[in-house]
Amino acid sequence: MHPPDADVVLLRYGDASVKSPTVKRFMLGQLVENVEALLADRGVAGELERGWHRPLIHTDAVDAAARAATDAFGVVSASPALAVAPELETVETALARTAAAVYDGGSFAVDASRADKRLPFTSEDVEREGGRAIWEAVADGFEPTVDLEAPDHRFGVELREEVAYVFTERLEGPGGLPLGSQAPMVALISGGIDSPVAAYETMRRGSPIVPVYVDLGEYGGVDHEARAMATVRSLSRYAPNYDMRPYRVPGGETVGHLVETMEGGRMLSVRRFFLAVAERIAEEVDAAGIVTGEALGQKSSQTGRNLAVTGRMTALPVHRPLLNYDKGEITERAREIGTFEESTIPAGCNRLAPDRPETNGRIEALSAVEPDDLRERAVAAAEAAERVEL
Ligand code: ATP
Ligand code: MG
Repeated sequence: MHPPDADVVLLRYGDASVKSPTVKRFMLGQLVENVEALLADRGVAGELERGWHRPLIHTDAVDAAARAATDAFGVVSASPALAVAPELETVETALARTAAAVYDGGSFAVDASRADKRLPFTSEDVEREGGRAIWEAVADGFEPTVDLEAPDHRFGVELREEVAYVFTERLEGPGGLPLGSQAPMVALISGGIDSPVAAYETMRRGSPIVPVYVDLGEYGGVDHEARAMATVRSLSRYAPNYDMRPYRVPGGETVGHLVETMEGGRMLSVRRFFLAVAERIAEEVDAAGIVTGEALGQKSSQTGRNLAVTGRMTALPVHRPLLNYDKGEITERAREIGTFEESTIPAGCNRLAPDRPETNGRIEALSAVEPDDLRERAVAAAEAAERVEL
């Protein structure tokens, strides 16, 4: 529970704070723009204030605004707060009122921070006098105890020259960097558990994602496609001000051709086809890299050797944010970010992998059996792609 009459949400950010003033200004501007878009998307009325110390949302709907803001990449935490005059007595009164409303037993602590050293009292004064005011406000009902290490209730006070904020909650955000503060990336999305998580992790570091889904023809199907689109729709909730309509690339003919003409190395050439498709689309949208959901050794096509062979298809960097994670860890992450449900929609499709897939690929050996026109096919497929409305 937040202080009664809370009318502002404090936003804390992480990595942007260590940037030079110019970069920080750019990043906070981006963050504010993204939070505004999230508020509009969720139908929450609020006014963003850029602030130098931290951005704020002025709103009557502090809970809904804080929830929307904690979907913004770059936000580490959000606190609904009550803004009062930065005077010791006023802050004490606000703490006492807050305690009367939210403190119902157990231990407490007051954490005060003072951004402006010109105030005539210190943060220790606020903690001591504020603690006493809280004590007096509740002592009739129960015996309050102070626990500075792990209190049941933490009362925060942030002091500025012109205003003081009192808060009791910190809603956790995703951290990372504001979306749009890094170059866009093309993300290969299959709709399985892994690739949406990989795309999310890249968005979390500031890169807008251009999703690409390759239609595998008889090895894919409508359910397979619907699953991929559903995961992108989930991801797009974090980025209402970005165009996340996926490119649907017709790959069925080429995949069928690879199945007919190749055996062991087939899956590597399928991956290489995907990468060449992604590279062509990256050119078109001026993306700086390609993101996949591959994890080292998770599948035969993802052995260290095989990743070396598939990666050679493109001059762009292939980013694999999940490289070092176990399936269990990735699955847990998918649940946290809300793509797991969609990823597990059954997508009954034909088996593409051969019985004995290559695990120790070498570029020379693969080149000898791979169709010579694989890249031309990928370029043609990418050029025939359509954007799918979400
Ligand atoms: P996922 O769990 O993301 O489906 P996976 O572990 O099943 O991945 P693969 O099927 O080997 O792995 O695919 C490896 C990566 O290639 C995927 O993470 C994804 O980035 C990409 N990919 C696979 N299939 C497609 C597809 N039909 N369209 C676009 N990208 C794909
Ligand atoms: Mg996988």
